[in-house]
Amino acid sequence: MTTRTRIPALGAEGWFTPDGDEPALLGQQCATCGTYAFPKAAFGCPNPACDGLEFNEVPLSRRGKIWSYTDARYQPPPPYVVPTDEHVPFAIAAVELAHEGLVVMGQVVAGVSVQDLKVGQEMELVVDVLFSDDDTDHLIWKWKPVTGGEHNS
Ligand SMILES: [Zn+2]
Repeated sequence: MTTRTRIPALGAEGWFTPDGDEPALLGQQCATCGTYAFPKAAFGCPNPACDGLEFNEVPLSRRGKIWSYTDARYQPPPPYVVPTDEHVPFAIAAVELAHEGLVVMGQVVAGVSVQDLKVGQEMELVVDVLFSDDDTDHLIWKWKPVTGGEHNS
């Protein structure tokens, strides 16, 4: 019996909280003007009118609405490593986080194809296994359609 280690996939360390029932992407918020950045801002505040260089790490909204989506027919760039020999097509969604004013790309969970998606659809962040090796699950965030019947808060 071994305990499997769950870590963010290579290239995605520090991009999200991998644990718990409510995983979240980790973004940055400018301490000067409040603008959000994801992935983390490398060269200061993304707001061109702001000189801010100090950021606070903040968890981002776990839900958003589809802004655009596409079918990944070819192998996407890191951190979307596709380790299997045969490339299994999957959908990629760009989801708009209304509160932060950010659009976050992510793989859509297995079993959901572009035919199941539409612009404006509400999506929820989940953390899923990207691939596994001997005793480690390499994790990445994915977008999952919010199923009906839930009341939005
Ligand atoms: Zn700023």
